[in-house]
Amino acid sequence: MTAREPSHLFYQSRLRRPLVDRAEGVYIWDVDGKRYLDGSSGAMVANIGHSNARVLETMRRQMEKATFAYRLHFENEPAERLAAKTASLMPEGIDRVFFVSGGSEAVESAIKLARQYAVATGQDSRWKVISRMPSYHGSTLGALAVTGYDPLTAPFLPMMREMPKIAAPRAYLDRDNLSPHERGLKYADLLRDKILEEGAETVLAFIMEPVGGASTGALVAPDSYYGRIREICDEFGILLIYDEVMTGAGRTGRFLAAEHWGITPDLIALSKGFAAGYAPLGAMVAHNRLVEPVLDAGGFQHGYTYAGNPLACAAGLAVLEEIEREDLCGNAERMGSALKERLELLMKRFPFIGDVRGKGLLLAFELVSDRETMTPLPAAQNAYLKLVDEAYSRGLIIYSRRTRGGREGDHFMVCPPLIVTREHLDEIVDKLTDSLA
Ligand code: PMP
Repeated sequence: MTAREPSHLFYQSRLRRPLVDRAEGVYIWDVDGKRYLDGSSGAMVANIGHSNARVLETMRRQMEKATFAYRLHFENEPAERLAAKTASLMPEGIDRVFFVSGGSEAVESAIKLARQYAVATGQDSRWKVISRMPSYHGSTLGALAVTGYDPLTAPFLPMMREMPKIAAPRAYLDRDNLSPHERGLKYADLLRDKILEEGAETVLAFIMEPVGGASTGALVAPDSYYGRIREICDEFGILLIYDEVMTGAGRTGRFLAAEHWGITPDLIALSKGFAAGYAPLGAMVAHNRLVEPVLDAGGFQHGYTYAGNPLACAAGLAVLEEIEREDLCGNAERMGSALKERLELLMKRFPFIGDVRGKGLLLAFELVSDRETMTPLPAAQNAYLKLVDEAYSRGLIIYSRRTRGGREGDHFMVCPPLIVTREHLDEIVDKLTDSLA
């Protein structure tokens, strides 16, 4: 099928893209036989690469046995084994796993477990989930309520309870004399101020992406930020939710981004790389001390029909085994620093690259008209579309946005599968260089 008839499908825009034919490793082919390097792993999803033979074989075997058995009628072994494997990869105590089918559902589940824990333990007055501006936590109404990006949330405000927001650290835009350490503490203390303003007895949780994803384009906070946030949550008895939907499953060079700072959150949301595109799957992982009171009080009043089905869980388990077997966290760290260095070199040649940022293979750069002031290019130039199209024509796919949570600008995420080799990095950088030129 190559003819492009009018489509019954619709997505965000009228933009049409090539029809996919097949995918293998870091490459995707369209129906005309053109090959593309998947330079952003889709939307930071295909962490172990496409069509991994071991994962496909595991899925094939599971498909021949049972693809679906409703979780309230039957338990299944892949779900049990994936839960145990997931728990083994989490910080101490974060060992109760609830499966879902995507990132928004994982965030939604974390918020709902937090609230049911509060109710079960006599803390009914706690319901506010403080989040950051900008941030992205998903598209369902609960996840959207904690998302800090006005264009996405504005139409729905009458339909949901607006949640308090604090500014996310965007130290690269600050023109002050603070050290990175001081800036980290300054931004973290915004949480303290907000809790006091709202009344600590009304605040349930704080949710953050450890490294900004779609919201800020791979923005990492100063190191001091992370520990101080944990301290503030503890001081006021507020639960800390890490949204690791994009950063999890090895993307930043550790299985969880939280490991970089030794942070133990109370709840963690996972999806994307967790099943790496092999199945719609995500997980909400919680500290046991939150789960037990909820189960004692009558159970977790929440769930999704497809959640925890044997096929998706078999795929997820095979993906996690692959990450471990091939040391993909280590490769993400090594290839990530190599790629970051290569992108930084491009800044010498192209003065309109404002900065390069990120951790592991969660990397991004931003195009600007002035690097000193980080002034964005005029919107009318449509640089984000132009560069993506140039890259497409050269067989490279990168993820771009014109704005990141209200900050105007052209942002590009370079986040290939964690299996990339140095040869793949050469190909990415060569194609990107030609496209930028
Ligand atoms: N949280 C974060 C940090 C994300 O990046 C995303 C997806 N971009 C989501 C949640 C929502 O995930 P999904 O699109 O799978 O519902």
